[in-house]
Amino acid sequence: MINFNVPPYAEKAMDYIRECVENQKICGDGPYTKKCNEWLEEKTGTAKCLLTTSCTHATELAALLLPEIGPGDEVIMPAYTFVSTADAFVLRGAVPVFVDIRPDTMNIDDRLIEEAVTERTKAIVPVHYAGVACEMDTIMDIADRHHLAVIEDAAQGIMSTYKGKALGTIGDFGCFSFHETKNYSMGEGGALLIRDERNVEAAEIIREKGTNRSKFYRGQIDKYTWINYGSSYLPSDMNAAYLYAQLEIAEEINDARLTIWNRYYENLAPLAEAGKIELPVVPEGCVHNGHMFYLKARDIEERTALIAYLKDNGIHAVFHYVPLHTAPAGLKFGRFHGEDRYTTRESERLLRLPMYYGLELGQVEYICETLGKFYR
Ligand SMILES: *Cc1c(COP(=O)(O)O)cnc(C)c1O
Repeated sequence: MINFNVPPYAEKAMDYIRECVENQKICGDGPYTKKCNEWLEEKTGTAKCLLTTSCTHATELAALLLPEIGPGDEVIMPAYTFVSTADAFVLRGAVPVFVDIRPDTMNIDDRLIEEAVTERTKAIVPVHYAGVACEMDTIMDIADRHHLAVIEDAAQGIMSTYKGKALGTIGDFGCFSFHETKNYSMGEGGALLIRDERNVEAAEIIREKGTNRSKFYRGQIDKYTWINYGSSYLPSDMNAAYLYAQLEIAEEINDARLTIWNRYYENLAPLAEAGKIELPVVPEGCVHNGHMFYLKARDIEERTALIAYLKDNGIHAVFHYVPLHTAPAGLKFGRFHGEDRYTTRESERLLRLPMYYGLELGQVEYICETLGKFYR
């Protein structure tokens, strides 16, 4: 069976984890967490990066950093996304306002955002699906004009750029995921990127149970105390050690993923030209990270048949995201603005093919041949 995903692993990980255990440095904010934060700051150019226990928690932390978001306030986001994008704001009593996606990138349709803005709107949460950027110039312009915060769900977007800027660094806050299905992993984990220096101290306090312990550790104060509300969003340094080994070879992992992505694209181009399937679109100005390779079948029936056919041939392909506005919690907590022209229809056609660091090009060839047979 060709798996859909295999968690990324870099050889040095075992040495680094052993070092944590031997030195008895396994709690949060140890040497490897610092190394990861610095690496991410250097790579993305953001003012500050804080490793977290997940992207879900990074988003929650961002929501807690925006005290202006409270019960009844509205947050605009795409309907086609993972639940965490909405959860973070629902926990604050806010209403997710779902907007339709664009069929080319599956990202929020930037042309529909402004009409969804009301007096209660406080933020926009663009999700960079498949590591391909949303139209950030348009989104930042709307946010500026209406005084809205922007929190980028860049769970899939590490190493990707929009007009030369790293995803996650354009909005007020950016959130990365290091879940095992993402390009770089620490099992469970994530990171919050903070664009403005002024928000760093508040973020450190909320991440450390509402205390100023980070300042204490740096020797800036004599004792630490309870300053604000907060939670515990810092991962064990062992998880950071596992991640850091991959960050050291980040370019190699990224190149390998792009090689796989490009091979899929070239091999499947004839099927797309024949009108049998549709392939992903990467707009001008966007550099992606090979996070995901998907195709679109004609409709849900064809996709179901295709998944079964691939499975019979030893290939595990998957789909995801029940559009949030149709899920029980989405119906309860949110609302859809405008017309669902593409979200449901396109989500039912989308199929994700195996994609991971270590997938062999021979396997990609076999998957593409199998797809060719299905359509013949
Ligand atoms: C994976 C993912 C998340 C959640 O990441 P975790 O680290 O598992 O919390 C959120 N949003 C999107 C778009 C994702 O793909």
